[in-house]
Amino acid sequence: MDFDFTAEQHAFRREVRDWLAANVPADLKGRGFASSRAGREHVDRLRRWQRALQGAGFVGIDWPAQYGGRAASILEQVILYEEMSRAEAPQPVNRSGLSMLGPTLMRHGTPAQRDRHLAKILTAEEIWCQGFSEPNAGSDLANLQTRAVLDGDHFVVNGQKVWTSMAHVSDWGFFLVRTDPAAPKHKGITFLLLDMKTPGISIRPLTQITGEAEFNEVFLENVRVPVANVVGEVNGGWSVALTTLAYERDVLTMIRHISLRTALERLVALAKRTKRNGHTAAGDPVLRQKIAALTIAERCLALNGYRSLTRILRGQPPGPEGSTAKLFWSQVDQDLAETASEVIGPYSQIAGPSEWAPDEGQWEFYCLLARGSGIRAGTSEILRNILGERVLGLPKD
Ligand SMILES: Cc1cc2nc3c(=O)[nH]c(=O)nc-3n(C[C@H](O)[C@H](O)[C@H](O)COP(=O)(O)OP(=O)(O)OC[C@H]3O[C@@H](n4cnc5c(N)ncnc54)[C@H](O)[C@@H]3O)c2cc1C
Repeated sequence: MDFDFTAEQHAFRREVRDWLAANVPADLKGRGFASSRAGREHVDRLRRWQRALQGAGFVGIDWPAQYGGRAASILEQVILYEEMSRAEAPQPVNRSGLSMLGPTLMRHGTPAQRDRHLAKILTAEEIWCQGFSEPNAGSDLANLQTRAVLDGDHFVVNGQKVWTSMAHVSDWGFFLVRTDPAAPKHKGITFLLLDMKTPGISIRPLTQITGEAEFNEVFLENVRVPVANVVGEVNGGWSVALTTLAYERDVLTMIRHISLRTALERLVALAKRTKRNGHTAAGDPVLRQKIAALTIAERCLALNGYRSLTRILRGQPPGPEGSTAKLFWSQVDQDLAETASEVIGPYSQIAGPSEWAPDEGQWEFYCLLARGSGIRAGTSEILRNILGERVLGLPKD
């Protein structure tokens, strides 16, 4: 692969860098490292930030021009992400809408659904949540039990979802429901778009280990959803969901190392200025080794991402890099969080805002948040199963 960028790509990088230098709001700068999206006021600030980014042409850049994007290549997406990370700018808040639902509607949605929703996803005028997981359907997602029964031109939905990130601040949700309980479990599922203001929806925030409540339980009691809100075929929702989940991973494989690099740079700065036993933490022989190992891991992840990028640019189907990147990233993310706690020492337990919590308490938040890295978007155990069985050809049991 040619690792050099073209003149156009350099120009794009310059355009993004200049715009970010002039436009990242002071109250959001640096908050993309480890910050909550639970508070309504903060989410409103992030909505305005996404709107500004969109006005500059930096949201949904990979979307086709007819849907408000600029049909940018995956390399430009990587450049954008690198520059946003460099500028310590938060990512667009409407992540589920942008990276999951939007591309799903382009592939499986009706023209009316695209007209109604795509533009408002880009501007964050309507924020979306993902209602897939249930108390007995996480790793085994096809076991979901939320029931939808046809009644005229509506489905009546009853059941419960859980871990629904940002449901409490979302305007819409894309949900998986069971429409044919007699069919084999992957066959009787339908993909529905739900207006979160519909009567019968109750949202109960779940307080997480971080102390915030970014995700929720969502209870659905006789919720009437127009048939026009079905994406794809009735009972054909599993294949639509697979599209959505594939998009969740897609570009992430190429950019996972970038968020780690940002945290790592902060960790190095922290280690250089934190004094312990008469020398800086960076001078501690054990901590130095750990930081060096994390740096090597970040480089490996970057190279794995480039390998995946090479396959895509050559028009080959995605390889196992998506699964290896997620698995490895979650381990490195947790190791990095633990090393930061060791560098900071007992003060690492102090939450921000406090003058005693380094980097405004973002490390305390990061360390607790990292516990979820091996769970969300596919647990580490499931990823090991996938790699063992499908890539290495190991026996199933
Ligand atoms: C931060 C965060 C945000 C999330 N946001 C959303 C969201 O917005 N929308 C949404 O729908 N969901 C969301 N989720 C849910 C997430 O998708 C699930 O937590 C995940 O799929 C695991 O499901 P589970 O929690 O039910 O655990 P389970 O599937 O019950 O797993 C429990 C444990 O058993 C292990 N296990 C299960 N099956 C096997 C097996 N076959 N072999 C070996 N080990 C196994 C798992 O690895 C895990 O350690 C979020 C989760 C987190 C942590």
